[in-house]
Amino acid sequence: MQNLNLFNQENQIKDIIQNLRDELKEHNRLYYELDAPSITDAEYDAMFKQLKELEAQYPQFAYDDSPTQQVGAGISEKFSKHTHKYRLYSIDNSNNFDELDKWYQRVLKESGQEHVSVTCELKIDGLAVALSYKKGQLQIGATRGDGAIGENITQNIKTVSGIPHTLPQNIDIEVRGEVYMPISSFEKLNEQNRKKGEKEFANPRNSAAGSLRQLDSNITKSRDLHFFAYAAIMDGTDAPKTHYETMQLLQKLGFQTNECHAPDALKSVKKAISHWEHTRFELDYATDGVVVKVNDLSLQQELGFTARAPKWATAFKFPPEEAWTRINEIEINVGRTGAVTPVAIMQPVSLGGSIVKRASLHNFDEIKKLGVNIGSEVLIKKAAEIIPKVIKAKEKNEDFYKAPEFCPSCNTPLIKPEGEVNLYCPNQFGCPSQLQAKLEYFASKEAMDIDGVGPAIIEQLLSKNMIKDAADLYTLEQDDFMQLELVKEKSASNLYNAIQDSKKQPLNKFLTALGIRLIGKEIADILSQNYSSIDELKSATTENLAQIDGIGEKIAASIVNFFTEPKNIEIIEKFKQHGINPTAAKIEKKSDAFFGKTFVVTGTLSSMGRTEAQNEIKLRSGKSTSSVTKNTDFLVMGDSPGSKYQKALDLGVIILDEGQFLELLNYPQKIKDYVRGS
Ligand code: NAD
Repeated sequence: MQNLNLFNQENQIKDIIQNLRDELKEHNRLYYELDAPSITDAEYDAMFKQLKELEAQYPQFAYDDSPTQQVGAGISEKFSKHTHKYRLYSIDNSNNFDELDKWYQRVLKESGQEHVSVTCELKIDGLAVALSYKKGQLQIGATRGDGAIGENITQNIKTVSGIPHTLPQNIDIEVRGEVYMPISSFEKLNEQNRKKGEKEFANPRNSAAGSLRQLDSNITKSRDLHFFAYAAIMDGTDAPKTHYETMQLLQKLGFQTNECHAPDALKSVKKAISHWEHTRFELDYATDGVVVKVNDLSLQQELGFTARAPKWATAFKFPPEEAWTRINEIEINVGRTGAVTPVAIMQPVSLGGSIVKRASLHNFDEIKKLGVNIGSEVLIKKAAEIIPKVIKAKEKNEDFYKAPEFCPSCNTPLIKPEGEVNLYCPNQFGCPSQLQAKLEYFASKEAMDIDGVGPAIIEQLLSKNMIKDAADLYTLEQDDFMQLELVKEKSASNLYNAIQDSKKQPLNKFLTALGIRLIGKEIADILSQNYSSIDELKSATTENLAQIDGIGEKIAASIVNFFTEPKNIEIIEKFKQHGINPTAAKIEKKSDAFFGKTFVVTGTLSSMGRTEAQNEIKLRSGKSTSSVTKNTDFLVMGDSPGSKYQKALDLGVIILDEGQFLELLNYPQKIKDYVRGS
C-alpha cells in the first residue's frame, strides 16, 4: 500500500515537473521568438526556480531538454542561421545577498583560493548580440538564439547607434553586448503605435528585441536602438587578462560600456548593488540587476560553465518592479493647485522590495484608457516616482471608473481647463484639501523647511481653527502647540522654534513656498537671481519675465496672475507683518553673449567644479542643463566624460574641451565663431 502511495506521489511530481516545463517553454517562445511575453519576468523567474528545485530534488525526472538546461529558445525562420564560433550563455541568478555569498563561496571552493577579485556592472535589460570583427571590420552581427546558433541580423545590427562598422585597430575580435532602447524612446514608440492602432510593446526589452529582429532593416533604423558592450573574445598576447581590462579595451575601440566597478571584494560589490538599486531609476534605460563576474579571465576559463550558464558569474536580480494586484478602492486626491488625482488603493503586494498598496492613476483620461474600475486586476510598476503606477488591466473594463463632478473635499463643481488633462477644483482659497496640501508644501524641505510641521500637525491646526493660512503659523505661541494631540512641552518648543527659524529662509525658498503655479525650486532660483524682493517681482510684467532665460510665457503669465489676486497680496502683507520679507542680492551678469544657448557640462574639469562651470555659464546668460538633447548647443567636456559624449556626437552638438571653454568664459563674444554641425 505504501509503495502504491509513493508511486502515485512520484507520478504527481512528474506531472508537475512536465507542466512547468511545458509552460516555461511556451513563455520562452512568446518572449524570445515573438517578443510578446504574457507574464511578468518575476512570475517567470518564480516558475523557473520552482522547476529547478524540483529537478534537483527528483533527478530521475531531470531531462536535458528542460528550460533549466537551455539558453533562450528557438530561432525565427525568417532569418538565416549563424553558428556561433564561441557559445553564448545565460547567467544564473542570485536573488539576495545570501545567494550571492553562496555563489562566491562556490567560486572560492572550486578555485582553491582564499580571495578572488570580482567586478560588477549593471545588467542591461535588452537583447544579447555577438558581433564578429575581422581585421577591424564588422562581419556578422547575430542574436544569442539557443547559445549555439543565433539569427544572422547583420544588416539590422549596422543601423544600431554605438556599433562601429570599422574599429580603430586592425584586429580580429568578437564583441558581445546588449542592444537596448532608451525608456523615453520606448514610451514614444508605444505612443505612436497607440495612435496608429498598432501593437504596443510590453517593456523596453521587448521593443528593442522586436525592433532589431525586423526583416526590413529600414524599420530597425527608424527605431532608437543603442548598444552597451560587456564582453570580448580575442586571441594573442595583447589580449586583455582581466574583465576590467576588457572593458577598457572596448571603450578604446569606440564602444559604449557601462560603469564597471574595479575588481574588489564582495563587500564593495554589495555596496554598489545597494547604491544602484535606487539610482538606476534615474537612468534612461532599463536594468534588472547587477552582473558580478570573476575578474581574472584565466580563472574564468578554469571555472567553466554549466549547460546553461557560466560558473564565474552571477546576476544579482533586483526585487521585481512589476506585480499583479487588485484595485479595492479609488481615492480622489485634491492637491495644492486644485488638481484632482485618482489613486488606486490596492490589495497590498510586494514590489521593488517593499509592500505597496497605493498606485497613481494620474487622471480620468488615463482611467478610461486603462479601462479600470474598483475590482480590476492590474499590473503595477515601480518607477522613479515613490508611488508606483498602474500599467494595464488584465481585462479592459468598458464600465470604467467615472470622474466625479464635484470636489470630494468642498463640493465645488470641478472644471477642466482647455488643453489640460486634469480636472481642477477652482475653490483656491476655500477648499480644505487644497489648504492642507498648500501648508504641507509650505513647510516642506525644499520650501521653508520647517522641521516637525508635517501632515498630522497641520491637520490638527486647521481642524482646531488655529490657523487659516501659512502666515498664521507665525502667530502661534509655544503654548498653542500644547493643545495638540501627542505634543508635549519639548516638542511644542521645537515646533515653535522651527517656525520662528524659518523666517530667515532666503528669497528663493520663500518663493518656492508660496506655491505659485508652475514655480518650483528651479524657477524660484532663477527668479531670485533676477529680482531682489517679492515687491520687485510683483511689479514685473509678463514681457520682463519672459525675457529671462528659463522663464517661458506660461510661467510669466502665472506669476503675473498670482499677483493680481487680492487674496495673495493680502497674505504676502501678512507675512511681512510677521517679519518675512526676504531680499536677495541680484547676480550681476558678466555678459549676455551666451543668451539662448544651452550647455551641458560633463566629466571632470581641472580648473573648476561642475557647479562652478554651470554658474559661469549662467553669469553669461547661458542655460545649463543636465542631459544632452537635440536642443543642446554645447557639450563642455572634462576628463572621463561617459555616455553624454557619444550622445553629443550622435546629435551633432558642438563639443568644447576645457581650454576652449575657458577661452569662451574670458571672451564670451567668441561664441559666434562656433557654428553647429561644423
Ligand atoms: P538573463 O537576462 O537573466 O541574463 C543573461 C543575459 O544578461 C545575458 O545573455 C546578457 O545578454 C545579459 N546582460 C545584460 N547586461 C550584462 C552584463 N553587464 N554582463 C553580462 N551579461 C549581461 O538571462 P536570459 O537567459 O537572457 O533570460 C532569462 C530571463 O528572461 C528570465 O530570468 C526572465 O526574467 C526573462 N524571461 C521572461 C519571460 C516572460 O515570459 N516574462 C520569458 C523568458 C525569459
